[in-house]
Amino acid sequence: MHLARFPRQRFFPAPTPLEQLPNLSRHLGGPEIWIKRDDCTVVASGGNKIRKLEFLAGEALAQGADTLVTQGAVQSNHVRQTAAVAARLGMKCHVLLEHRIETNDPAYLTSGNLFLDRLFGASIEYRPGGTDMNAAAVEAGEKLRAGGAKPYVIPGGGSNRVGALGYVGCAQELMAQADEMGLVIDRVVHATGSAGTQAGLVAGMIGMNANVPVLGIGVRAPRPTQEANVHRLAEEVADYAGIKGGVPRAAVMANCDYVGAGYGQPTEPMREAVTLLARLEGVLLDPVYSGKGMAGLIDLIRRGEIGARERVVFLHTGGSVGLFGYQPFFEAGFAA
Ligand SMILES: *Cc1c(COP(=O)(O)O)cnc(C)c1O
Repeated sequence: MHLARFPRQRFFPAPTPLEQLPNLSRHLGGPEIWIKRDDCTVVASGGNKIRKLEFLAGEALAQGADTLVTQGAVQSNHVRQTAAVAARLGMKCHVLLEHRIETNDPAYLTSGNLFLDRLFGASIEYRPGGTDMNAAAVEAGEKLRAGGAKPYVIPGGGSNRVGALGYVGCAQELMAQADEMGLVIDRVVHATGSAGTQAGLVAGMIGMNANVPVLGIGVRAPRPTQEANVHRLAEEVADYAGIKGGVPRAAVMANCDYVGAGYGQPTEPMREAVTLLARLEGVLLDPVYSGKGMAGLIDLIRRGEIGARERVVFLHTGGSVGLFGYQPFFEAGFAA
């Protein structure tokens, strides 16, 4: 694999920091917990979609596009990051937002990511929950093309073989950092949703023969679906990146026990994880992804499924802007 062969826009100075979380480790009685700060990818307050957008925007510009089209839930971090990237590149941005969660909460419907989408100047259309959003985005792109624009349609979460290259690159970056520091990584843990992050990481680890397991903590789909989605995309991105030999099914591991009532529905373990990281480490997680991912990591440590002597890297995928969309939920916890 040789990522320089793919068109790319650089949006942040790599590597993102790899830091220890000593207070959290002490609080839990081990293991050694490290955090890879992909919440520090600069654009739009950062997050994992920026790595994917380096390759997606690179391809969009190579194709002569002038408009980025994408979709997500109302509080989508991906949409916010896409809107900012478009602004930075002097492109237009058109987004479709799905009412995936039934709520009248003004914080959820107007604050956080939604507010920033508007600030970045994206044009917004809404769709009811349950809409086939990728198909709707393609349709919106066709409409724009008929009107004379040059749209580039990005699937939800930026999760296709082009976007996932960003996390092949992250795997390379992380292992170079660990080797430089003399850090032996026993396991990587992160929140997995539209699958591109885990697919890229798994393919990248295989491409390097790193032998570092990657555990995705699911935020939406049940485990069989999530693992199948990640595996399919890992095979695609491995092939696209020139990684030989395919991706063994066993290399794809997801734990979907921490979703709670559904995508974007707050859980008590998420509240605890977000609050612990804020108060022990001064780190901001998010309610939909990294908060549930960290809740999973904490629970697996407490159950002894992740050993006290391991060295674990939690990939922080960003999303803290979403906290403002859930402010009433957290404030209710402060009062209690
Ligand atoms: C999108 C997102 C994820 C999940 O990444 P996928 O590549 O969609 O699986 C995790 N955390 C945050 C904060 C995200 O915005």
